[in-house]
Amino acid sequence: MKKHTESSLELALKPAKRPIELSVRLAWYLLRNKLRGRKRFPLVTMLEPLEMCNLACVGCGRIREYKPVLDKMMPVDVALKAVAESGAPIVSIAGGEPTIHPQIDRIINRLVEQRYFVYCCTNALLLERQLAKIPPSKYFCWVVHMDGMEEKHDESVARKGVFKKAVAGIELALSRGYRVCTNTTVFRNSDVADLREMFQFVAELGVEGSMISPGYDFQDAPDQDLFLTRQEAKSIFKELLDPAKTKGARFYNNPLYLNFLRGEREYQCAAWSNPTYTVMGWRKPCYPLADEHVQDVEELYDPQLWEEQYGVGRDPRCANCMMHCGFESATIFQAISTPKDWVTLIKSGAAHKGGITGA
Ligand code: SF4
Ligand code: SF4
Repeated sequence: MKKHTESSLELALKPAKRPIELSVRLAWYLLRNKLRGRKRFPLVTMLEPLEMCNLACVGCGRIREYKPVLDKMMPVDVALKAVAESGAPIVSIAGGEPTIHPQIDRIINRLVEQRYFVYCCTNALLLERQLAKIPPSKYFCWVVHMDGMEEKHDESVARKGVFKKAVAGIELALSRGYRVCTNTTVFRNSDVADLREMFQFVAELGVEGSMISPGYDFQDAPDQDLFLTRQEAKSIFKELLDPAKTKGARFYNNPLYLNFLRGEREYQCAAWSNPTYTVMGWRKPCYPLADEHVQDVEELYDPQLWEEQYGVGRDPRCANCMMHCGFESATIFQAISTPKDWVTLIKSGAAHKGGITGA
């Protein structure tokens, strides 16, 4: 059987389609910050304008962690101020289910007017009613949660019929001219063949690309057996991303991160590049962990956090984490000083985002 090397993987996996302006703007943003001598700076602002959801997925920590504040809705001006304070050119909106927020259209439309690249993660159940209020734009992309084909997806979100609604939402949004991606979390009970079928299926529907990440073992998620250890994750992604079997799939993550997931590269976490703002403030230190919530985003760049306290080998809770919010951006930051890796990112059109994560 043909052995696939890192570079054959890069060639074999179809790159996602995405606006060129996004790649150019992000490359310029990275260069500008490097020239200013900034060692740590944000690539993606993770915005969670509410934590309430109309589903209760088995692997979701958020709806349980934020139980006391599930009814809290972030005001529009507070959301815009947080994004401006972070300064990252990309905004990933999650939660909770963003389409439940009564002013989500105002938040998204204002950010788009300001030319941020906005990704809105959704389970698509209420997508249709937002289409009338949020016009399509090259600066805006729906990211629909898909954890498998019908049976596996409905099992993951603990409700029958959700897969069909998600597919109908994707088709409707595409037919009205929206950019659409999908977002998949891989768990211990994920079925590799089923996921491959789903990636091909959504690529045929016409989505821009599929984002993937292993789940994080959120302490508040009810089924702790769901989450992969680092070793298990590497082995499942090696199988899942076998180029000989992923024909037709279109991945949104950059090829260096995909190689990391396959266990072919090692990186230290760079979660400071994805600051996460919630109804309680900025999660400190990162998207998966909130040892505290703080009001000043600058606190998240404290070198002591990242040189002594958090990351693989420093905090036991980081041992199994391979999430894109910590490690996809790490591939980008390391590539800045590694010309060969930078060329790989440019060729794949992936100097584009620092890891856009879903709910
Ligand atoms: S994972 Fe997303 S869709 Fe599922 S319950 Fe959590 S916020 Fe809702
Ligand atoms: S490795 Fe640790 S600090 Fe980094 S994103 Fe994962 S949980 Fe957060």
